[in-house]
Amino acid sequence: MAVSSAGDVSGRGMTSQRARDRLVARLREHGIEDQRVLGVIGQLPRHLFVDEALASRAYEDTALPIGLGQFISQPYIVAKMTAAVLRTGVPQRVLEVGTGSGYQAAVLACLVPQVHTVERIDELLYTARRRFRRLGLKNIRSRHADGHVGWPEEGPFDAIVVTAGADELVAPLLRQLSETGSLVAPVGPAGAQELVRVQRDGEAWRSEKLGAVAFVPLLAGVI
Ligand code: SAH
Repeated sequence: MAVSSAGDVSGRGMTSQRARDRLVARLREHGIEDQRVLGVIGQLPRHLFVDEALASRAYEDTALPIGLGQFISQPYIVAKMTAAVLRTGVPQRVLEVGTGSGYQAAVLACLVPQVHTVERIDELLYTARRRFRRLGLKNIRSRHADGHVGWPEEGPFDAIVVTAGADELVAPLLRQLSETGSLVAPVGPAGAQELVRVQRDGEAWRSEKLGAVAFVPLLAGVI
């Protein structure tokens, strides 16, 4: 029997296509209906976004540690946030705050023309960039910065996905939405976070709650 080489792109055994198919079936059972999102999660090798020691758990529907106290988000939450920003059509330019492992950015990059992502921890960003290169994802631009300010030089964005929690919606990010853009972010104190979707319509910003979540905090400054 062939032995899986470290970080095989296609994956074998616990990191195989069958494992991804099972994950997609589970997401569907839990109410994810967007075929575009399910299609990408069924193809993208999530096991390459975690440490080799955790690769066998990459297709469980769970968050996993990526070092430095951070986590790759649970696939269900990635699917839900991605479907939320695709709801009214495909956004052309998307900003993600909190690159982490790079998985959410990679999912987005398979679905929209241009992704920008910012991360405050240099070491995580470096590893995520290697993954983007290895997978040939050329439509992701990334920056080592505090995402509280967004990426003003590159805005406005048709969608913004925030993958770390703040007590309140971050005003500079709302201002970087295009006229009909939408933002999805975890909001609220630790232990009582809600996923919030904000839809901008000109000078009106309408928000709705999409359910309880548990993200690491959005922190100030870079390291
Ligand atoms: N989207 C990630 C999950 C990220 S976990 C993935 O798919 O793997 C949250 C990430 O947000 C962490 O990497 C954390 O360092 C980062 N983060 C926290 N506060 C931030 C800030 N102010 N600006 C940019 N990134 C931030």
